Amino acid sequence: SNSHNAQAAKPNQWLGLLGGGQLGRMFCMAAQSLGFRVLVLDPAANGPAGSVADDQVLADYMDDEGLAQLAARCVGVTTEFENVPALALDTLSKSIPVSPSAFSVGIAQNRIDEKAYIQKCGVPVAPHAAIRQTADISIALEPLLPGILKTARLGYDGKGQVRVKSLDEVQKAFVELGQVECVLEQRLPLLKEVSVIVARDSMGECATFPVAENHHRKGILATTVVPARIDESMGAQARANAIAIAGALDYVGVLCVEFFVVDGMGLVVNEIAPRPHNSGHYSIDACVTSQFEQQARILAKLPLGSTRQHSPAVMVNLLGDLWFTPEGEEREPNWPAVLALPEVKLHLYGKEQARVGRKMGHITIVAAELERALEVAQMVRDILG
Ligand code: ADP
Ligand code: MG
Repeated sequence: SNSHNAQAAKPNQWLGLLGGGQLGRMFCMAAQSLGFRVLVLDPAANGPAGSVADDQVLADYMDDEGLAQLAARCVGVTTEFENVPALALDTLSKSIPVSPSAFSVGIAQNRIDEKAYIQKCGVPVAPHAAIRQTADISIALEPLLPGILKTARLGYDGKGQVRVKSLDEVQKAFVELGQVECVLEQRLPLLKEVSVIVARDSMGECATFPVAENHHRKGILATTVVPARIDESMGAQARANAIAIAGALDYVGVLCVEFFVVDGMGLVVNEIAPRPHNSGHYSIDACVTSQFEQQARILAKLPLGSTRQHSPAVMVNLLGDLWFTPEGEEREPNWPAVLALPEVKLHLYGKEQARVGRKMGHITIVAAELERALEVAQMVRDILG
């Protein structure tokens, strides 16, 4: 619409990014493809985003001078890093548009607030209770067992979580987690895990991506299959829930909503991430517009693009484990063999040092049929060992 055009950023203007990881790298590439320049603020030099950005401010996220530079040079600022200090976003928002807002990011940074907000939209979450002190551990929690005790803040890739079967174990786990604010969740019988990426612009327009089906290994996303193998009405429900949550937060930007498909309960929201998400990487190669391009369009006040998926896809994460032999010797994965498969799209993040569990890149397999994509994913795993 015309109101978009009036405020839209112009080519060669600067978009600002807080954070320097792989999500930021892929944002840079998408924004640059649209003709923008990207200024990254990150304390580390030569990171995945900094090394492709047009320029970098080498400073801490809370550094006033660094934030002032971002505000002076950019037309808007976004983030790629879930635990970016909400205060940094708040400070920036006094001088330039910031999306997502400090408020939305703050909600997503605390599992207790997050669940309260989602429930307020009428969307189910796992039965849970907040545990802030030892006195909160009482017989009233018994219906939540067996459960999972999670730190309310700073958990990722399964870190900050302990499985518990008795109140005694809850007590022990609470101490083990440092007696920080926690949430005890009932352990649900999961049939599947799926996620929806929703892009919502400053005018409230929304576009959801096709539902992704996620498979984890050791608490880390291993594989995403799209379209998810769930029935159509559940898929539509997941997308509607994602839009409802984004709307309730008055969210501006790209938001990931992770769901459990629970035996006997249907869809339950697990958590939300206020940024592009690993489970949406397939959109780069399999959709008309990627999640990163949507993030850039939203920041630049341009219309959202089509999220139509043109090919079935399987995304395979490449963890640092693949850079080591079973004996622990360093090796280079066999890229020529993988790239000889015509359906393979390889994305490496430019990280210099491989470590076990570290996200080094991903492969998207784009095929005419999902069956073929799944077959090629197995071939890729066999080659990479
Ligand atoms: P993270 O922030 O580390 O991604 P999550 O809360 O998403 O943490 O939990 C990681 C994984 O643990 C989930 O993807 C799911 O497989 C499992 N899990 C988490 N909560 C529950 C639950 N309430 N019931 C069953 N499985 C769960
Ligand atoms: Mg998760």
